[in-house]
Formats: sequence, structure tokens, C-alpha cells
Amino acid sequence: PFDVLIVGGGPAGAAAAVYAARKGIRVGVAAERFGGQVNDTLAIENYISVLETDGPKFAAALEAQVRHYGVDIMNLQRADKLVPASEPGGLVEVHMANGAALKARSVILSTGARWRNVNVPGEAEYRNKGVAYCPHCDGPLFKGKRVAVIGGGNSGVEAAIDLAGIVEHVTLIEFADALKADAVLVRKLESLTNVTIHVNAQTTEITGANGTVNGLSYKDRVSGEARHIELEGVFVQIGLVPNTEWLKGTVELSRFGEIVIDAKGHTNVPGVFAAGDCTTVPYKQIVIAAGAGSTAALSAFDHLIRQPVA
Ligand code: FAD
Repeated sequence: PFDVLIVGGGPAGAAAAVYAARKGIRVGVAAERFGGQVNDTLAIENYISVLETDGPKFAAALEAQVRHYGVDIMNLQRADKLVPASEPGGLVEVHMANGAALKARSVILSTGARWRNVNVPGEAEYRNKGVAYCPHCDGPLFKGKRVAVIGGGNSGVEAAIDLAGIVEHVTLIEFADALKADAVLVRKLESLTNVTIHVNAQTTEITGANGTVNGLSYKDRVSGEARHIELEGVFVQIGLVPNTEWLKGTVELSRFGEIVIDAKGHTNVPGVFAAGDCTTVPYKQIVIAAGAGSTAALSAFDHLIRQPVA
């Protein structure tokens, strides 16, 4: 069995692997796609000490460092069931979609999350070419430009307020008849002079030319009229979904499906830890996921050294 089995190979899983392997114990990483979300990222400009890199380069660097420590990387492997230890100090099992079952004395869950898509024409075509999902990451790329934010919940309204301080103009598009965000955020948004809010607005298409976004089309759900706005960027803010469906009923999840962890990365299952975007950690970012992965690995090691000698 592994001493530490990490499920998920993004920044959280990679950091956990490096920290665990440096303790001289047996470590494995099973990942559906090693590298995780950073594979889909164009420019990364906020990983401390690295002025600028791109996603594929960052993912390759994660993998190289993990391999350097002799970690067993099982790529293209999807976990679909976690079986907690049957007795204290017993082995935890992770069942894979291919039928294999991996056993470990401790497990770190770092399966990340995915942004919910609006699924309109143009979204996939212009992803990273004007269509963005993370205002902390990509906001500065739109300095002085016009953008739309799709989604009037807390994340959409927060994004619009954030972006209004960077870009020339923000149009917030909400499908429902009112913004769902906290009243204090809505009041703040409404006070900004470079923000326009459209409710009852159904995004129908993200338009573009020459490989970049040039506008957004929506239908006014009250009048039925089709409208078009010219702009350079669209931030989709309709939810971040944790990849935890396979853990329902086994590990405690928040109402958003995030794995509930404490400050040390413990879940409610003994010997099972979690880190990164799949957890209740506030703020979903690479540097935060990497820090959380390190925390979870140190906690897993702490757990292992406290097991009675067999
Ligand atoms: P992820 O990166 O999501 O990795 C999850 C891992 O788990 C993957 O290996 C995945 O294949 C695997 N996995 C999922 N389910 C299973 C399963 N059932 N079995 C096995 N493996 C599984 N953050 C920044 O700090 N700066 C940026 O500039 C930035 N730009 C971004 C741009 C885009 C387009 C996106 C989508 C995100 C961006 N982010 C950025 C956010 C950042 O990528 C995430 O916060 C970070 O990757 C989270 O790391 P993680 O390890 O928790 O999860």
C-alpha cells in the first residue's frame, strides 16, 4: 500500500506529493489529467516569484518536480469511490473507474473544480481569447477595455466590482429578474459609474472576429428583443463546481459540494485529508491550492507517525 495516496494532480496534489515524498515515504498520485486546471490557462502572472508563465509550462514544471522525488504518477485515472478504513489505522481504499482499487494508509483528496459554462455559441471558441472565468487571474488583461460579467450572484457581482476598478466599462448580465448577490454588494455595484446592469437578460452568443471576442448578444426576456453589446471580454461567473460528486455520502461536503476541511486539511474521515479547489478553502487560486496541498501532506505525515507500531 501507499503511505500517502493523492487523488488529483493539480497544484494542490503536486504540492502534496512533493511534501509527502520528501519525508521518505511511499507516495502515489492518481489523476484524471495531471496538471489540472492550469492546463487550460494561458498566462499565469500571480504565482509568487514567477513573473509570468503559461499553463502548459507550469503543468510540466509541476510534473517534473513530482517525478524528481520518485512519486508514482498514475495519469489518466479517474477515482469513483472512496472506502474509509474499517478500523482505526486501517487502510483506506480508492476505487478507480478502470476497476482497480488502490490502498493507502492515508489519502489526500485534491480533485479540484470546474467553472460552470454558459454553453452558448462562442464560449468555447473564444476561451482564453476574451472569454475568461477568473477575475483575479485575467482582470488585468482587460485594462482600459470593455467587458461583460455573466451572472448576478455573489461571485458575479464581486467580479463586476473588482473589474470596474481595472477596466473601462462593465456590463453585468443576469438571467433572473433581480441580482441574487448580498444587498451590500448590489448597492456597491449600483454606485459605480462605469457599470451597466441588465436583468432578465439571457446570453445567446459570444461574438468575435479575428480570433478574439468583440461582443455579446442577449435576449431581453421581458420584451423578447434581441440585443448586442460591443466589448472585448466576457467573464463567466455562474458557479465553480467542485469535482466531488464521487464522494457524496462518504466524506462531509458543504452545501456547495466542497469537502469540509479544518485548518490542517483534515476531513471528517480519519486518515483522509483534502486540499485545493475541491475544499471549503476560501479563494480558489494556484498559490493557495499549493499551500493547502503542502498543509495536507504535513498533516497526513503527522497522522502516519501517530499510528501504533504494527
Ligand atoms: P485542479 O487544478 O482543478 O486539479 C484537479 C486535479 O484532480 C486534476 O489533475 C484533475 O484531473 C483531477 N481529478 C478531478 N477529478 C478526479 C477524479 N475523480 N479522479 C482522479 N483525478 C481527478 N489561478 C491562479 O492562481 N492564477 C491564474 O492565472 C489562474 N488562471 C486560471 C485560468 C483558468 C482558465 C482556470 C480554469 C483557472 C485559473 N486559475 C488560476 C485557478 C487555478 O487553476 C486553480 O485554483 C488551481 O488549479 C486549483 O488547483 P487544484 O489542485 O485544487 O485543482
